[in-house]
Amino acid sequence: MLDLKAQYKAIKNEIDAALIRTAESQGMILGPEVELLEKNLCEYLQCKYAVGVSSGTDALLIALMGIDLKPGDEVILPTYSFFATAGVVSRMNAKPVFAEVDPVTFNIHPGSLKKLITKNTKAIVPVHLYGQSAEMDEIMSIANEHGLKVIEDAAQAIGTQYKDGRRLGNIGHIGCFSFYPSKNLGCFGDGGLVTTNDPELAERLKILRVHGGKPKYYHKIIGGNFRLDAIQAAVLNVKLPHLDSWTKGRQHNASLYTKFFIEAGLAEETGRLDYDGKNKVLLPKAVYSGMGLSHDHIYNQYVIRAEGRDELRKHLTSKEIGTEIYYPVPFHMQECFAYLGYKKGDFPVSEWCANDSLALPIYPELSEEQIRYTVETVAEHLNK
Ligand SMILES: *Cc1c(COP(=O)(O)O)cnc(C)c1O
Repeated sequence: MLDLKAQYKAIKNEIDAALIRTAESQGMILGPEVELLEKNLCEYLQCKYAVGVSSGTDALLIALMGIDLKPGDEVILPTYSFFATAGVVSRMNAKPVFAEVDPVTFNIHPGSLKKLITKNTKAIVPVHLYGQSAEMDEIMSIANEHGLKVIEDAAQAIGTQYKDGRRLGNIGHIGCFSFYPSKNLGCFGDGGLVTTNDPELAERLKILRVHGGKPKYYHKIIGGNFRLDAIQAAVLNVKLPHLDSWTKGRQHNASLYTKFFIEAGLAEETGRLDYDGKNKVLLPKAVYSGMGLSHDHIYNQYVIRAEGRDELRKHLTSKEIGTEIYYPVPFHMQECFAYLGYKKGDFPVSEWCANDSLALPIYPELSEEQIRYTVETVAEHLNK
């Protein structure tokens, strides 16, 4: 599913030098490497302020603390995402309010938002799932109309452009990123980033990162330990200049999957939403492709849908092809959220995605032969 050794091998000399440099400096926490990373990422993401934090999950948590979310406040987010998106809201004693997703993009459906807004709604958290942007214009206009904050969960979408060319994380009030090793820009452990264009918010996030103390040991607010390690920043400073070429590799691999699935007679085009004899596999669609953007979709994941997904996955596993199910249980059906009172059937599109989706290997170092083999192996099973 993911071979991180291939990437390491290609940049081993640079990485090893950075690791040794950090070891010799014995600067462990924040410091110049983190500051350099924040500066580099401000440039890359075209935002004014970037604050390195301990993980993508902590980026979301500190963002909610940053907007001063209070117990009982409501936060609207898609029911179909990685757990952290919803988990952080509950951890703040606030109420997650789940929204349906769009069947083509897997992202929060703007049309479903208005009816979810109450007098307690404080924020919307769109997730740019798998590396493609949510419909930000509509989300921002609804948020502005109701005075809501927008926190973009861009953990899977570093560098992705919205249709107007802006980089994600820059459109809402705060952007949240993850450097978990399986993300497009991954460190050697856990790491994350929050971005904003608001100077006061940036200052507050920096204070929250160190327990809310400023000056040190004097606390006007309560924060936490959300610091990024220098060694992670050093690794990321080496990797960042390679990110665009890796993204290109992922995009190329996605185009190969599309081509091979169509040639194999398993699909007619991307973005189809109904199965038939000519479309046994539903292919992901980059909805802003053809608009001249280099980063319309960065393919953190390449997710197909197929009926009988679990059997298909078993077959692929038996042929030593790694796959993953993102995500088998939408939030509204998670046991830990039973107290919110949702039931199966409340969000049919999300449930359908959870049932049928299968992520195939997409990392940049994959060979054309490996991709061809994966498609052939899918065909072998579905044409049985
Ligand atoms: C990975 C991810 C996170 C959390 O990031 P961590 O660094 O693993 O804590 C949050 N949201 C989404 C959508 C993610 O994919």
